[in-house]
Amino acid sequence: MENIELKRFWEQIKEELISTLPENVHPWIYPLEVSGYDKGVLTVVTGQMMGRDLLRRNHYEQMNQALQKVSGEKNARFVIIYDENAAKTLKKETEKIQKKISEKNLKEMAMENLSNMQSSSNLNLKYKFENFVVGENNEFAYKVAKAVAENPATKYNPLFIYGNSGLGKTHLMQAIGHYTIFNNPKLRVKYTKTDDYVNDYISNSRKTNNNIENMSKFNRKYTNIDIILIDDIQFIESKMKTMEDFFSTFEALYTNNKQIVIASDRLPKDIPTLDNRLRTRFEMGLVVDIVPPDYETRFEIVKAYAQELEVEADDDVFEYVAENFVNNVRELKGAFNKISAYAEFSGTGLTLDLAKRVLNCEAKKKEITVSTIAQKVADYFDLTVKDLKSTARQQKIAHARHVAVYLAREVLQMSYEAIGEFFSKKHTTIMYSCDLVADKLKTDEDLKISIEEIKASLRN
Ligand code: ADP
Ligand code: MG
Repeated sequence: MENIELKRFWEQIKEELISTLPENVHPWIYPLEVSGYDKGVLTVVTGQMMGRDLLRRNHYEQMNQALQKVSGEKNARFVIIYDENAAKTLKKETEKIQKKISEKNLKEMAMENLSNMQSSSNLNLKYKFENFVVGENNEFAYKVAKAVAENPATKYNPLFIYGNSGLGKTHLMQAIGHYTIFNNPKLRVKYTKTDDYVNDYISNSRKTNNNIENMSKFNRKYTNIDIILIDDIQFIESKMKTMEDFFSTFEALYTNNKQIVIASDRLPKDIPTLDNRLRTRFEMGLVVDIVPPDYETRFEIVKAYAQELEVEADDDVFEYVAENFVNNVRELKGAFNKISAYAEFSGTGLTLDLAKRVLNCEAKKKEITVSTIAQKVADYFDLTVKDLKSTARQQKIAHARHVAVYLAREVLQMSYEAIGEFFSKKHTTIMYSCDLVADKLKTDEDLKISIEEIKASLRN
């Protein structure tokens, strides 16, 4: 028989075998290779000794019947040979298939991890190491974060990142998560905002009435993890039970050599609600800061961002934005978003002229400083700036002072130290004011309105 003819002949027989033999035998049939057909004898080769024996012992007659049916030869029969070379080829192929399967599993795990992470944390897939612009201001934090992503729980554990709002702490943390789920999908990563953790904890204890079994389910959610990313730890509440639980979660992860990364807008020692034991633990790891970027880095950030958005603009536009948004990368990017949206709607290109018109930075720059804020707040509450700077403790003055401090922080992104200098207060007092106002704002509608009105007056 010609080779091709033989192959076709064998395919037909194989089909017959598959349709007549039970399914559990199929894995022994597929690897059979045909080697010849002569005088009613069909020789097939297999690399599986066990397959040969099993087929010979239990299915020989059925196989012969299939052969006879297809060939039309009454006495046709099989000869099944075991061949070592065939075995080797088979082994290689099996390995290839297994590798493919495990790669597929890894990918699936990554996707699963990804969706878990996204759903539990609003993971922002835009936050990657690749689109984090490195400058002097953040270089150390970046390098350490990268090292943690590449080799979790080896050197820097826990890692504590601190810096003012809008400087890239969340971006770096999520980049660690992002890196892990794509490069090390076997590891379980969890990103949690501290207030989400606290709310989750409180609602869970309420729901379960502190039922031990359910609470331990809750604990597992936070300890059954290889890398935990805890954002904005300054929002931790000092409520005994929450802190106790948080501490034991931390301890469980730490003693099991899991990576812990924490972000905060201030140092552990400046978080008044933080339990002392946790403070000590945090300080024992590596503490790194991110400060506002210099001009060159700001320029690179805007430029890279434009590329990401696929918006074209000349360098003078990037220069203008970089010159005018100095303390906060979120605002820097926000400003660029705004002008690119204007450019798109107006149908004109993104020119320096348009940027100037839309952002109107000159006018703003002239107006808002900490002293304008203090003046506007004093006017609003019918006080003087001197009152705000004084040590007077009357409720009205204290309240106005808290608001002024809060606005200086929020509008100008000033450091606690710099605000403290202006108001002649310690930085811890300034922090206290900021936290107090932020906390009250959650429920106090009047305060919200006051702040909006003062902000509006700042713009005029
Ligand atoms: P934080 O958590 O410190 O308040 P985020 O990480 O949320 O700040 O950063 C605010 C915005 O600024 C995000 O859009 C982030 O992508 C961007 N950002 C911050 N630093 C950088 C950087 N170095 N390169 C690129 N984008 C940055
Ligand atoms: Mg953040």
